[in-house]
Amino acid sequence: ELFTFDEFLTHWAAERPDRVAMREEDRVYSYAELDDLTARAASALIAAGLKKGDRIAWIGKNSDLYFTLFYGAARAGIVMAPIGWRLSPNEWAFIVGDTEAKIVFAGPGFEGLADQLAGKLPNDPAIVGAAEAWAMIEGAQRTSFEPSDANDAVLQLYTSGTTGNPKGAVLSNRNLFALRKHSSTLDMPYTKWDDDEAVLVAMPCAHIGGTGLGIMALAAGLPGVVLAEFNPDGVFDAVEQHGVTRFFMVPAALQMLLMHPRCASVDYSRLKYILYGAAPIPLELLRQCIQVFGADFIQAYGMTETTGTISMLPPEDHDPAGNARMRSAGKALPGVEIVILGPDGNSVPIGEVGEVVTRSSNNMLGYWNLPDATAKTMTDDGWIRTGDAGYLDADGYLFIHDRMKDMIITGGENVYPAEVESAIFGHPAVQEVAVIGIPDAKWGETVKAVVVAKPGSSVEEADIIAWARERIAPFKCPRSIDVIEALPRNASGKILRKDLRAPYWEGYE
Ligand code: ATP
Ligand code: MG
Repeated sequence: ELFTFDEFLTHWAAERPDRVAMREEDRVYSYAELDDLTARAASALIAAGLKKGDRIAWIGKNSDLYFTLFYGAARAGIVMAPIGWRLSPNEWAFIVGDTEAKIVFAGPGFEGLADQLAGKLPNDPAIVGAAEAWAMIEGAQRTSFEPSDANDAVLQLYTSGTTGNPKGAVLSNRNLFALRKHSSTLDMPYTKWDDDEAVLVAMPCAHIGGTGLGIMALAAGLPGVVLAEFNPDGVFDAVEQHGVTRFFMVPAALQMLLMHPRCASVDYSRLKYILYGAAPIPLELLRQCIQVFGADFIQAYGMTETTGTISMLPPEDHDPAGNARMRSAGKALPGVEIVILGPDGNSVPIGEVGEVVTRSSNNMLGYWNLPDATAKTMTDDGWIRTGDAGYLDADGYLFIHDRMKDMIITGGENVYPAEVESAIFGHPAVQEVAVIGIPDAKWGETVKAVVVAKPGSSVEEADIIAWARERIAPFKCPRSIDVIEALPRNASGKILRKDLRAPYWEGYE
C-alpha cells in the first residue's frame, strides 16, 4: 500500500506517465512531468540547505507552482506551510514567524511580499518570488534524497481562526492519504473513480478543502484542475471545458454559484459529485443546490486537526423531500471512531448532545509549538476533542449542532445557532443570517438574529420572528432582529460570530 507523496508520485509516473496530473489554465503536466518536477523541487530545496523537518511557507493563491513545491518538499520530508493570501500583512507576519520557515515563497502576483513583510518578521527567511522559484526548480538536477516516511510531517495547515488565533496543525504523509484509505473500504459508487474523472481545486490551498482536493486527485491518479481563486465563472468553465467531475465547496461559495447569472445555463452533465462542508449549510440552500446542479451531493465534516473529512453524508441521504438525515453530517468513515462526551468526560446516551470526540489515522501529529493547546485538544491515546457540539442517532448518523462555544443558553435551555439560522434562511427576504446570544438580565442570554436582506427586499422584525415561530420551538426563536449590510466572514467563508457578538457584549465579557 502507498502512504507517502514520494510513493504516489513514483507509482503514477510508472503506471500512467502520460496521463494529465495537473492543469492550471493552459499549463498542463503529465504524471511523468509532475514526478520529475517535484523530484527536482526536492533536490533544489535540499541544495538550498533545507533538511527533513525544516519549514517552508507559501503566500499566494492556488497555483501549479504551489503544488510543485509542496509535493517536492513532502517527498523529502520538508514541511510546507501555506498561508491564506487574503490575510493582512500583519497576519502573514504572525504566521510566517510562527512557522520558523527558512524560505517564504511568494505566489504569482505577490511580487511586493518582501516589502509588505519588511520589519514585521521575528526571523529572517529568504523571500523567493514565483519566477525565481520556477528557475530554482527547473535549473536543479534530480539528485537522490532520502524520502520521507509515512509518519513524517509534510504539511502545516493553520486553522481558520474562527474562534481565536490560527494554530498550525502538523500533518503527516499518513494523515494526508487517510481519507483515501478510509473511503476505499466503503463499497460505494462515490468512493470509486472512473478513468475520465477530474477534480477541481477551487477553495484556498491554505485550507484542507483546497490542498486536500489536489491530494485527492493525486491519490486517484487523475487530473487536478487548479483554480487560482474561487470565482463562479472559473468553476463553470472548469466543469464545461476541463471535464471536472468533482469539487468541494463551502456553503457560502455554493450560494455564490447559485446567485450567478450563468448558473442556470451551465452544462453540468459531466459533474458527478459536489462535496460540501466546513460550516453548517442551511437546509433551503442545500435543496436549491440539489435542484439546480443535478449532481450527487456529499457532505463532509471534519476539521484541520483531523486532516478534513472524518464523516460523510452520502448522496442517498440527500432527499429533497426533506428526510431528517439531510440535517446530518453523515456517518463516521470506516476506520474513524466518533463518540459524544458529556461534561464529565463520559459517553452520553444516543440522541443526547455533547462534545464530538474522534480518533483515526486522520488525527494530526499535534499543533506546532503549542504544547498546551495540543494537550488540551489531543489525549495521550490519540483522541481529538473537536470543540463541536453534536449527537449521534441510533443508526450512527452524526448531527453537528454548532461549536460548544457558540451555544446560546437562554433561560436554562440550550439553543444552537445553526438550527435557528437554517429556519430563518428560507424566508424570501433573507439573503444571509447569523444567530448569536446577547446578554439579558432575566434570561442570561436571548437569541438575536442578524440578517442581510436580499437586494430590493426589506426585512421586518415581527415578520421574521413569526416565520421562525412556525418552524422551531418558541424558546429557540429570535427575540430581536438586526439588519446589516454584510456578515463578517473569514477567508474560509465562515461567519465570525465572535466579531458579531462583540458590540453587544461590551462591558460584559
Ligand atoms: P479555529 O479552530 O481556528 O477557531 P475553525 O475551527 O473554523 O477555526 P477549521 O479547522 O477550518 O477551523 O474548521 C473546522 C470546523 O468547521 C469544525 O470544528 C466545525 O465547527 C466546522 N465544520 C466543518 N465541517 C462542518 C459541517 N459539515 N457542518 C458543520 N460544521 C462543520
Ligand atoms: Mg477549530
